Amino acid sequence: METRCADPDLSVPEAVDLLVVDAAELVTCRTAPGGARGADLDRLEIIPRGAVAIRGGRIVAVGTTEELRRTFRADTVLSAAGRVVSPGLVDPHTHLVHGGSRHVEWEHLLANRPRSIDDGIRTTFEHTAAASAELLRARALADLDVALHHGTTTLEMKSGYGRDRAVEMRLLEVAAGLRDHPVDVVSTFFGAQVLPSEFRGRSGAFIDSIIDMLPEAATLAEYCDVCLDPIGFTLAECTRLAEAAREAGMGIRVHADQTGCAGGAGFAADIGAASADHLDYASEADLRKMAASGCVAVLVPGVTHHLLELIPGAGGGTPTLPVKGFLPSLVAKMVELGVCIAVSTDYNPGTSPTLSMQTAMQLAARLFRLSYAQVWHMATINAAKSLGRDHDRGSLEPGKIADLVVWQVPEHGMVLNRFGTNLVDTVIRAGEVVARNPVGSGAWGEERSLTPTT
Ligand SMILES: [Zn+2]
Repeated sequence: METRCADPDLSVPEAVDLLVVDAAELVTCRTAPGGARGADLDRLEIIPRGAVAIRGGRIVAVGTTEELRRTFRADTVLSAAGRVVSPGLVDPHTHLVHGGSRHVEWEHLLANRPRSIDDGIRTTFEHTAAASAELLRARALADLDVALHHGTTTLEMKSGYGRDRAVEMRLLEVAAGLRDHPVDVVSTFFGAQVLPSEFRGRSGAFIDSIIDMLPEAATLAEYCDVCLDPIGFTLAECTRLAEAAREAGMGIRVHADQTGCAGGAGFAADIGAASADHLDYASEADLRKMAASGCVAVLVPGVTHHLLELIPGAGGGTPTLPVKGFLPSLVAKMVELGVCIAVSTDYNPGTSPTLSMQTAMQLAARLFRLSYAQVWHMATINAAKSLGRDHDRGSLEPGKIADLVVWQVPEHGMVLNRFGTNLVDTVIRAGEVVARNPVGSGAWGEERSLTPTT
């Protein structure tokens, strides 16, 4: 009789750098290629008592703690008992580098006093031009720290507050100099955000001047953003700029249909843009084009919230209807049509001064009436897809970069329900612990320790 011995190598656990174990819920956000859409948005994969094995900054395996403990050993083991573990959050739309603050303008909005977003943007142009590169860099680094401590591990940033070539390039250079920060920054050139007053009546000449900047901008930025909106540029101007940007090797993003329907969503789909953002007035026909093209709809609930667009006003003591009461049904239509939807902070000093993706997620659920599962997909895998990075981040899957957030709460719905405080416990970026927030830790679930244990 032949005796078969177990191969000794198979019984020896494989060595990895880090094991995260005992997560109350491991929220993988794993979904079909092309992002979570339609019914898939509501299918959130959760592994109870989940674990992740990490080596060389990448995820080696995802499963239950029992399975991974059997298969892997590590010098560093982090217990996430009583905690949710999710992918790092991806913020796909910010105006990170800028000078000044616009809180004064917001008080005018609260008081119903006349104000103009256009004037507000010009104020930021002035503050940004007056700021040195050192000051802009110091502020951007401090802002990235805030984003990181709220769970963001990848963040897109746009230029656009430069009133001339020199300032625009300074903003992109500052962004390029942020590479040593743990948050991975993706740069976008947004030279044609708004028509400068000196070009009034000569928007074609202004677009020419932006096209002239593209060869230099393309060395610093991966994407070019164009604004197809009644307060932006025309379809012909946006097409000319987008085609020139594509020739310069850049991907395209679109600020679309924020203040009225300009065909921005359909244009984004037609031209093969990676994303169309805002979309408040997108037509159903254009949303169908987006669903067919795979262009990601990046929603900005922080803007809706901060501009008071979904709550009644009280002009002269008389109640007035919300100006964008149609937004929840518009977002429901996007889901129904199968548009890939994502959520961002749209961090900027005027219309959405927050760096917290948690806040953006909470507002997306609250204002647009979305489910917890939908919002988790929007802030992770779908946001990563809008940046062309869903192949290596946005979900917890073998082979992807090990960007993880450990949350202070044991259930993923609590992250969306408990608004207004930072619920991040620990942030892991490419396999390294890069942020910890001890305040509030220990309030939920089992006792646990994040002190490395063998
Ligand atoms: Zn924006």
